[in-house]
Amino acid sequence: MSTPDLARDYLGLDALLSDAELAWRDTVRDFVATRIRPDIRKWYEQATFPAELAPEMGRLGLLGTHLSGYGCPGRSAVEYGLAALEVEAGDSGLRTFVSVQGSLAMTAIHRFGTEAQKERWLPPMAAGEAIGCFGLTEPEAGSDPGGMTTTARRDGDDWVIDGAKRWIGLASIADVAVIWARTEDGVRGFLVPTGTAGFTATPIEPKLAMRASIQCDITLAGVRVPADAILPGAAGLRGPFTCLNEARYGIIWGAMGAARDAYEAALGYALERRQFGKPIASFQLTQEKLVDMVLEIGKGLLVALHIGRMKDAGTLVPEQISFGKLNNVRTAIAIARQARTILGGNGVALEYSPMRHASNLEGVRTYEGTDEVHTLIMGRAITGISAFT
Ligand SMILES: Cc1cc2nc3c(=O)[nH]c(=O)nc-3n(C[C@H](O)[C@H](O)[C@H](O)COP(=O)(O)OP(=O)(O)OC[C@H]3O[C@@H](n4cnc5c(N)ncnc54)[C@H](O)[C@@H]3O)c2cc1C
Repeated sequence: MSTPDLARDYLGLDALLSDAELAWRDTVRDFVATRIRPDIRKWYEQATFPAELAPEMGRLGLLGTHLSGYGCPGRSAVEYGLAALEVEAGDSGLRTFVSVQGSLAMTAIHRFGTEAQKERWLPPMAAGEAIGCFGLTEPEAGSDPGGMTTTARRDGDDWVIDGAKRWIGLASIADVAVIWARTEDGVRGFLVPTGTAGFTATPIEPKLAMRASIQCDITLAGVRVPADAILPGAAGLRGPFTCLNEARYGIIWGAMGAARDAYEAALGYALERRQFGKPIASFQLTQEKLVDMVLEIGKGLLVALHIGRMKDAGTLVPEQISFGKLNNVRTAIAIARQARTILGGNGVALEYSPMRHASNLEGVRTYEGTDEVHTLIMGRAITGISAFT
């Protein structure tokens, strides 16, 4: 039996993956190594989203990975998770693009759209030739999307949408926006081409997290769309929550990618850096930090894989996604911050990844349900009592 690489995969978790899953994971890892890692510091510093990567990511099968038909890759939940893991090891901003495009915008169309809407949008979105965004959050409605005030009213056969959205990923470069709005029949989703008169998206700048991705304020001023812009399959908040659950699932894996990269950066540095005549990795306090990271990454990956296997088996319930999102993002932030300390002063330099990951993960902790929201979901699940209001 060969000696396992304990520094890289302490628990030998690769053995839990099939050859096809490992090959896919390695394909995405290679893409991140050659197309994201060399330039991520520049994009982060310049607050640039590398939109030119979208078609490449589409060709690789990173957009709508878990969706089938209409040019989508049709991969399993675990394969989608492995892709999120590897992309976020590069940067959370790039994984956020994968999530917004595939889990939010494409999932909304795939699950709730008409045949014509699917044919129109999904093939170019899967190819990375069209970009989508997902407008749920508003300036005054975040954790409680039921408080949204954006409205859509009938005017003849058309719909007219008025309101504002905030923090909407990719909106300023998107071709189509999935906009959730209040109607006489409750909350409904609409496909709004971003060139429609009255639609304006303005990037929120400057940001201290997710600098290699875009989030925007959107204003909708008398935006007129035809009758067939509505997503017929989504009625009420169940529609957007279905999409959010897909994105939350990807985050469970992705956060562990950022954590792993921070750990690997700290380990490499600790073995090289010498103080008091020895590598800092030789000090017990440094080893304790590294061991704590290995413990938490191993546990977080097991949680991700177990939840992924349940998702593929069709047995996963949304409350279990909250377990993974809350635990793995909180854990990843702690790991990235601890990794930064091992780098000493160099830990605050952009040259090293841990503090970039820690900053990005503050955004990840907030979107797709904050720590508090997932705590309340789990609290309600185990007590039967809602503490939301
Ligand atoms: C980087 C980034 C990308 C995003 N991308 C998108 C996107 O693409 N599309 C989109 O629609 N939205 C997006 N969002 C918005 C995100 O989903 C919201 O920021 C999030 O839901 C929180 O809403 P809020 O910011 O309004 O905070 P609030 O809801 O105002 O919350 C503020 C604080 O109060 C706490 N709180 C709220 N209610 C309770 C309660 N009942 N009990 C205890 N504590 C509570 C929260 O947990 C939080 O700590 C993004 C956000 C970020 C930061």
